[in-house]
Amino acid sequence: MIHEFDAVIVGAGGAGLYAALEASKTAKTAVVSKLYPQRSHTGAAQGGIGAALGNVEEDTPEWHAFDTVKGGDYLVDQNAAKILAEDAVRAVYDLENRGLPFSRLEDGKIAQRRFGGHTHHFGEGAVHRSCYAADRTGHMILQTLYQQCVKNDVQFFDEYQVVDLLLEGTTVKGIVTFELKTGELHIFKAKAVLFATGGFGRMFKITSNAHANTGDGPAILARAGIPLEDMEFFQFHPTGIRGMGILITEGVRGEGGILKNRDGERFMERYAPTLLDLAPRDMVSRAIMTEVGEGKGVRGDRKIDDYVWLDASHLGREVVEKKIPDIADFCRTYLGVDPAEEPMPVQPTAHYAMGGIPTDVDGRVDTGKQVYDGLYAAGEAACVSVHGANRLGTNSLVDLVVFGRRAGMHIAEYVKSASHGSVTEADADRARQRIDALRHRKGGRHVGPIMHRMQEVMMEKVGVYRTQEKMDQAVEEIRQLREDFKEVAVQDTGAGFNSEVLQIMELENLLDLSLITAASAANRTESRGAHAREDFPDRDDPNWLKHTMAGLDNDRVTIDFKPVDVSIWEPKPRKY
Ligand SMILES: Cc1cc2nc3c(=O)[nH]c(=O)nc-3n(C[C@H](O)[C@H](O)[C@H](O)COP(=O)(O)OP(=O)(O)OC[C@H]3O[C@@H](n4cnc5c(N)ncnc54)[C@H](O)[C@@H]3O)c2cc1C
Repeated sequence: MIHEFDAVIVGAGGAGLYAALEASKTAKTAVVSKLYPQRSHTGAAQGGIGAALGNVEEDTPEWHAFDTVKGGDYLVDQNAAKILAEDAVRAVYDLENRGLPFSRLEDGKIAQRRFGGHTHHFGEGAVHRSCYAADRTGHMILQTLYQQCVKNDVQFFDEYQVVDLLLEGTTVKGIVTFELKTGELHIFKAKAVLFATGGFGRMFKITSNAHANTGDGPAILARAGIPLEDMEFFQFHPTGIRGMGILITEGVRGEGGILKNRDGERFMERYAPTLLDLAPRDMVSRAIMTEVGEGKGVRGDRKIDDYVWLDASHLGREVVEKKIPDIADFCRTYLGVDPAEEPMPVQPTAHYAMGGIPTDVDGRVDTGKQVYDGLYAAGEAACVSVHGANRLGTNSLVDLVVFGRRAGMHIAEYVKSASHGSVTEADADRARQRIDALRHRKGGRHVGPIMHRMQEVMMEKVGVYRTQEKMDQAVEEIRQLREDFKEVAVQDTGAGFNSEVLQIMELENLLDLSLITAASAANRTESRGAHAREDFPDRDDPNWLKHTMAGLDNDRVTIDFKPVDVSIWEPKPRKY
């Protein structure tokens, strides 16, 4: 079946919904989502959305932009960071006007709390910048935007999984999707397509990400010949629930929570004397892994799965129940720990992809050498790049609403003069053949063991600390897993609700992105932000102040580079 729209938005998280809201002002717009929209990972965002409203103390967008650049270890494109910080203020009031129930101060203004790496006066001390709705900020954003989209007659195709992109040269003409309910392929013919498919933390064993975060968008584009930007930079959030990876928001430390080692020592005093527990995430994750490596983790056995304490008990029950109610619930449910009384056991968890589909500040896919007409990306799947080598907390939600909106506005203009490409049923053949092959293959391999091995390899060899030897091993092992993948066959041959077919395709996407991530990491011989190498511990601006652009050519990863925009602040060493 062929559907025709002006604009098709792939993904119903914050980025996709905001883009749809803007695009639908002039374009006949569809949102295609493999999940029911409110199940998108944006709904799991806890801690808040950063904007220099200055409701608690003095703050400016300029400080916000500077913190973003410095937090990203100067790999951030600075003009993009300026747009992010300036537009964040408008975006938060816009969400408020659309009905988002933010937590409030006594005087009725939107409440704000501290978050890692957010400072006043260019690094003098932590600032209250994160606007929040208790610890359910993302949930509220998603509800608000979804209601607005429904009101604006955006058409939703829920539980349709995109499996292929249709290009004519470098101009988009549509996508191919798999309908979960029937197993049928549907083609969407469109003048503009935006990918907002979210992150891909599922390539790691311990992750805060939902099961659906498998990087389908970036993988589909990589296979279509589009290089991905800065894939070596994957953020480990310091405080995942031990062993499970479920996130404990940085908001806990923003409210005054403290990290402690086995001796009860507040070890961040030694690593970041000014910002302490609110240093950027890459630094705090490294500090935890160093403590663990020195036998100061809670069990003291120096293993990768050892952990530390996050203590919020001194904040008192009232603060815990009011400011972090969901976190308190998770801890009681999964750990039998009541954070109002005892410390929480935490360890770094794979959290956020700084890299992704390269775009300009209007969401257009732009490799630095080639702009793709009608093809857009936004949100975690995209790399603008506003997060550089390490994202600051609360800046992803800002990214979604600022750049999702800008992409939507660009689409609304673009479709006015663009025309449809020619699309026929035969355009679905490539996807059909892939799925048929899975159904008829006589191989004996299953998804589970390959997925688990990939997650272990990435966790152990492309994790918080990295070495050449381990990353090279990871590249080879992932290559082998991609070979093994060719023998995977479907066990369930039914047509309706065949989620197994979709899982296999998600695994393929994760394998492709793992290979690109490991190869990009192995190539960068310096330490910067989340890419921390034991064998090259220093940042090397003369040689490495540049974005990686990694292409996928069968089982080879080709590496090229793109310059970083450093037009506002000169790169300096990071101290906190
Ligand atoms: C637990 C947790 C807490 C977080 N807390 C914060 C926070 O407090 N502040 C902050 O700034 N950031 C936070 N983040 C990060 C932030 O929430 C995410 O980066 C952001 O929500 C991603 O939004 P998105 O719109 O890009 O994608 P998502 O919200 O992940 O949505 C992706 C969409 O794409 C669709 N999709 C994917 N693949 C396909 C396909 N093949 N076909 C069709 N549809 C597809 C899905 O159905 C979904 O609708 C948190 C992240 C996590 C995991």
